[in-house]
Amino acid sequence: MTGVSGSGKTSLVKDIFYPALMRHLDSATSDAPGKHQAISGALERIGKLELIDQNPLGRSSRSNPVTYIKAYDHIRDLYASQPLSKMRGFEARHFSFNVEGGRCETCQGEGETVVEMQFLADVRLVCEDCGGKRFKREVLDVKYNEKSIFDILELSVDEAIMFFGETKDISPRLQPLSDVGLGYIKLGQSSSTLSGGEAQRVKLAAYLGKGKNATSVLFIFDEPSTGLHFNDINKLLASFNALVEAGHTVVVVEHNIDIIKCADWLIDLGPEGGNGGGELLYEGAPEGLLAVSRSYTARYLAPKLAVSSNQ
Ligand SMILES: [Zn+2]
Repeated sequence: MTGVSGSGKTSLVKDIFYPALMRHLDSATSDAPGKHQAISGALERIGKLELIDQNPLGRSSRSNPVTYIKAYDHIRDLYASQPLSKMRGFEARHFSFNVEGGRCETCQGEGETVVEMQFLADVRLVCEDCGGKRFKREVLDVKYNEKSIFDILELSVDEAIMFFGETKDISPRLQPLSDVGLGYIKLGQSSSTLSGGEAQRVKLAAYLGKGKNATSVLFIFDEPSTGLHFNDINKLLASFNALVEAGHTVVVVEHNIDIIKCADWLIDLGPEGGNGGGELLYEGAPEGLLAVSRSYTARYLAPKLAVSSNQ
């Protein structure tokens, strides 16, 4: 779904298409779709609808991508199984910064304390007790291949995949994050620091990690390339292809031309934003859009398609 900002892409997808399809799948759903005549097509082939939006994964600073995709449980188990943990009676929960037990209680596992300033932005200070390491010293003493649980949280996803190798399912569980172009984020990074595009890609990774699903899902993404490094666009496209090959359907609202040019089917709205928008300019394969002179998308797409056909 393409078009300039304000051309009506998001309204069509989120306010009409999504609620109308939702109502088709489950008549009990209450959100009334916007004005439309009908929704038609091979609807029987869609078993489930997933709107992957830019909303954060969790509001608190405690939620994080690695807990979201359930990889952290396996890391905690690995640390609890080390000989020193057994000697000291540490269980998996001691390696969580979300519950009492092994975390530093001064900062409650945050690694920093927040000083509220009356007229200014809050000031964050490194926790005096743990020095930012989030756990009690006895817990940090437990090492796996010379790394403490804090050292692990400081690793990027790609570093952690290398570090754990084939250990206990950990790397395979982290792999989907790397596959969607998030290999650079730290394991301990709070979800609240992720951009909307990054949050969407974590949600996508969670689906990829679940493996094959018998139900075919229609996924809707809202500008998932936001904040994505140029080199990682191919990874995101490969993830979309993996979903399509597994029998799913992917609808993407997008401005990024490198993603747009790879679509099987484009729907271009415009020509302008606001009152000058909302008109269907084109639908079909990307190449066909080039003939639509009123389309801004066509202007940006033309050089990209010329480059790809020369290669
Ligand atoms: Zn602390």
